[in-house]
Amino acid sequence: MNAMPHDRTGRFDVERVRADFPLLARKVHDKPLIYFDNANTTQKPLVVIEAVDRFYRESNANVARAVHQLGEEATAAYEATRDKLARFINAPSRNEIVLTSGTTQAINLVAYSYALPRLKPDDEILVTTMEHHANIVPWQLVCERTGAKLKIAPISERGELIVERFIDLLTPSVKLAAVAHVSNVLGTINPIAELARATRRRGIPLLVDGSQAAPHLPIDMRALGCDFYALTGHKLYGPTGTGALWARKELLRDMPPFFGGGEMIREVRFEKTTFADPPHRFEAGTPNIAGFVGLGAAIDYVESVGRDRIGTYEHALLDHATHALKAIPGLRIFGEAGHKTAVISFLIEGAHAHDLATLLDYEGVAVRSGHHCAHPLMQFYGVPATVRASLAFYNTHDEVDRFVEAIQKVRKLLA
Ligand code: PLP
Repeated sequence: MNAMPHDRTGRFDVERVRADFPLLARKVHDKPLIYFDNANTTQKPLVVIEAVDRFYRESNANVARAVHQLGEEATAAYEATRDKLARFINAPSRNEIVLTSGTTQAINLVAYSYALPRLKPDDEILVTTMEHHANIVPWQLVCERTGAKLKIAPISERGELIVERFIDLLTPSVKLAAVAHVSNVLGTINPIAELARATRRRGIPLLVDGSQAAPHLPIDMRALGCDFYALTGHKLYGPTGTGALWARKELLRDMPPFFGGGEMIREVRFEKTTFADPPHRFEAGTPNIAGFVGLGAAIDYVESVGRDRIGTYEHALLDHATHALKAIPGLRIFGEAGHKTAVISFLIEGAHAHDLATLLDYEGVAVRSGHHCAHPLMQFYGVPATVRASLAFYNTHDEVDRFVEAIQKVRKLLA
């Protein structure tokens, strides 16, 4: 690994970073790949690929079951990732970190284990217009079972949460609020600490979907003041099928198990089973052990690059791309929040999002087109789909220029 990716002048050395990601060297349709689909999933550095490979070659065994050497090594490697995650998000305790298959499982855990037993008819859950389906559908499912209702906090045309409206909607019937830290479509960074102050004052727990924040921003559970925080490993340069839920220990302590099975019990009798303490109470069955070993390596990697440095560099890429795209006639950008990550959703007048993305693919540019698992947000803007370019710290200014040239070219083809 190329530690310290900056040159002697202190400049961020993107070429050294790129050398750590083998896939970035490949071609697509005979063109050098420009991978701008990072909000969907990120590419993996060699250290992650090698950590997974090494685990299977040298230490593969199940966790928390065997006393033999391999079992101990596997358990230690798996548990080390819990420690790394706790440090990465500045959690007060490692026991507040539940390892999950991703954000989707983390939010479902809160929906079924925290919300379902508590909700009563006419209670409410507050979400926002900009949520991913993973932060809408689990709440709808528990609302259907309990008679509770979803309430929606609106956003502005620029794609910013209207904070005063969010606070006004925190009425006594609201039993939980669930908000994205960063929108996967708009890149908007929501003011979580401010929202958390308002929810705390009213005794309403706040769940934050941190899927799109963890790869780009320093995140700090003590500073944010929320109650639940979900993140996913594959957007954080780690393997798919890994993620975490952080929750305050007082909340986890009172939550019943979500899945039952091995690893999550204290004692099983046919008359009655007692359960392990959190976080193991929520980790039934054999987890994605090798995946979590890879996630540990990904966290080490991101920390070695430095999240402040990542943020500064990605911001410069965002400014460059926004400026260049705005100069293209007929191009409309969705989401112009004052605080945003390097995500740009757009459409070109007269062109369908999927046609644009398909033609860009032939130019070697990977972008996502569609509703981005955010139907309500598409309805808000009155469009069925957008094209989304989402950048990461291994992308370059030269790629932004080639992307803009590719758009100019396909725009002419579609005119
Ligand atoms: N929430 C947001 C904001 C996302 O962008 C995504 C993934 O696209 C998810 C939740 C779901 O993450 P996963 O599929 O890894 O569970």
